[in-house]
Amino acid sequence: MKSRLTPEEQQRYIRQILLSEIGTEGQEKLKQGSVLCVGAGGLGSPALLYLAAAGVGRIGIIDADTVSVDNLQRQILFSTEDVGSLKVSAAKEQLLQLNPLLQIDVYSEKLSATNAEKIFADYDGVIDATDNFSTRYLINDAAIKLNKPVFFGSIFKFSGQVSVFSRESGCYRCLFPQPPAEELAPDCNVAGVLGVLPGIVGSYQALEFLKWKLGIGDILTGKILAIDVLTHQSRILNFNRNPECRACSQPEKILLQSDQNRSPQNTISAPDLKKALSAKEALVLLDVREESEHQLGNIGGLLLPAGNVKDNENLPANLSQKIIVYCRSGARSARAAEQLRTMGYANVFNLEGGLIAWKKDVDPNLKL
Ligand SMILES: [Zn+2]
Repeated sequence: MKSRLTPEEQQRYIRQILLSEIGTEGQEKLKQGSVLCVGAGGLGSPALLYLAAAGVGRIGIIDADTVSVDNLQRQILFSTEDVGSLKVSAAKEQLLQLNPLLQIDVYSEKLSATNAEKIFADYDGVIDATDNFSTRYLINDAAIKLNKPVFFGSIFKFSGQVSVFSRESGCYRCLFPQPPAEELAPDCNVAGVLGVLPGIVGSYQALEFLKWKLGIGDILTGKILAIDVLTHQSRILNFNRNPECRACSQPEKILLQSDQNRSPQNTISAPDLKKALSAKEALVLLDVREESEHQLGNIGGLLLPAGNVKDNENLPANLSQKIIVYCRSGARSARAAEQLRTMGYANVFNLEGGLIAWKKDVDPNLKL
């Protein structure tokens, strides 16, 4: 049988074959296994190195970037001489030096709605090693559509998160139905990062894939592992599949979109809101500021301070009801809108620029 280990493989992997939970049988499963890593950066580097070292038979890497010198502080797949080279080419070379017994497929392109399904279809599972929200949603949706697990990792400053998403246990969209507003979504290009943290999180992603493939241990499905490397505090948070989830509740109907960053229809401008109110459009207006701010001046609607949005009895019973939230600047209401979407409200709009924009564009007499 093709999957049988050669003497060379027996020798190379002996230290993990010695684990009774793995053995020759487990090693053969890894040899037959395949995994796609989206992103060959800070998370992808350690994940790919460990997956290759462990003997996962076929490894795909998709990334359109070239290596730059400021990547080297955390992207340990690359060395100084790789600067300027395509990441996928440098990664393939490095991984084959580590383990020439593997098949490494590379895709020097950006993941998009047009190529995602075709590429994903060839692999058992997908490692999400990206640093931006639009790709993260695309990975989630394409993988859920094809019924492949996603081994998720993300970092911010000194904290990291790891999870495994699937149709059965819930997905990224169950947790965050919509991408956040861009200004609330820093990536590590702007936020800064200590290289060890993606090293730890990316290693965890590889670990979860190996456990899943081997069928051993507890997998982080329906759970998020959150770690803080400054304090050493780590927590496991449980989450449930959202029965209203746009992705995993109706996976066959998922429509892939390439750029799923904040879509313009999630916000409404002050003049457009004025028009909608004048036309007596059926909408629920929510002021999510504090009571004292509301009393000083408001544009009507229900007062529902942002901290009290969850489980509030004044919220409409109909989940498709059009809701417009506002606050002073648009930031608190963006978070409240996000929370309402998480609760299942499908038609939530944020007043862009808040009442500051309203005062500027609609009513200069509004007291703030
Ligand atoms: Zn879901």
